[in-house]
Amino acid sequence: MPVRAAVMPASGAPVEVRSFPDPSLEPGAVLLETLASEVCGTDVHLHHGRLSGVPYPIIPGHVSVGRVVEARGVERDATGEPLNAGDVVTFYDVHEVCNACWQCLVARQPNRCPHRRVYGITYSANDGLLGGWAERIYLKPGVRIFKLPPPLTADDVIGGGCGLFTGYAAVERSTLAMGDTVLVQGTGPVGLGAIAFSALRGAAMVIAVGAPAPRLALAGKLGADVTISIEDESADARRARVEELTGGRGADVIIEATGNPAAVPEALVLLRDGGTYVIAGHYTDTGSVSLNPHREVNRKHADIRGQWGTDFHHVYRALKMLARHRDRLPFAQTVGARYGLSEANRALEDVEKLRVTKALIIPNGS
Ligand SMILES: [Zn+2]
Ligand SMILES: [Zn+2]
Repeated sequence: MPVRAAVMPASGAPVEVRSFPDPSLEPGAVLLETLASEVCGTDVHLHHGRLSGVPYPIIPGHVSVGRVVEARGVERDATGEPLNAGDVVTFYDVHEVCNACWQCLVARQPNRCPHRRVYGITYSANDGLLGGWAERIYLKPGVRIFKLPPPLTADDVIGGGCGLFTGYAAVERSTLAMGDTVLVQGTGPVGLGAIAFSALRGAAMVIAVGAPAPRLALAGKLGADVTISIEDESADARRARVEELTGGRGADVIIEATGNPAAVPEALVLLRDGGTYVIAGHYTDTGSVSLNPHREVNRKHADIRGQWGTDFHHVYRALKMLARHRDRLPFAQTVGARYGLSEANRALEDVEKLRVTKALIIPNGS
């Protein structure tokens, strides 16, 4: 039976549904029936051609949950759990990290390995069902599969989506100590993930700065103690508010999850002396800003760090925490709408216009 998938033919071109042959599995491969995939901000960037080196046509969808249809010679998931047909799994979208290059071996940062490929982003649709906006996903040999720990459902995982993992990675990259005040810039999926894990890691106060109002409400549910609307409060008002909340010292840790360059100089004012600033929201190039190295970095003794992508351990640890603290992390509530394959263009538009926080693609929906 042919398999349907939503294909992005080229940057700027509308997504269209195409049929692919039912794949036959090579040894070590696993075939999933897709339960849910997501539309994240990266998919909007892909749609507009804002990422370089993307081999259009592609089947988008990097973080997905599926049911195992067939596993050819694969008996365990990446953590050693038995894997059987019918199991519900997710998988680490990054693949083909070489463990043999300078980045992998010397710098020990596989997230910068030049050989890494990403499902739904850097694989062409001509190479097969290598994205989540498809009825079936072909997991190549070596893809790290992770059986969902109970009681997690597809909605819990995709409600968090890649933002959950990126948010986790950003918090881990920071120096957040118990009792710290953390400020998160941005209340999209990455910001919400950072808010949730900041609270779980022991922040005394989490301040969320973002918009629109429904996202700020979600931020509150996921662990933000204070929310500040960028629509209602000017930069001066935001600064006064943060000074008031921190005894005039500023936040111990700030995590950027906006993709807006203007967030960076603002954070360097709101950060306390010796604080840590993690920039995690600039997955595409949205321009430059100027800053004052003396006042905002050097004299401030600021620690500025970038976080590029995620490693498997981020996915593993984030999902373990999500399973353990599911009652405190209602990510399923971020799911705003579900779309079939033929509705992918509307899903992209709804995400771009911020009409929904998290849009799910349900390829096998009715
Ligand atoms: Zn490598
Ligand atoms: Zn993503």
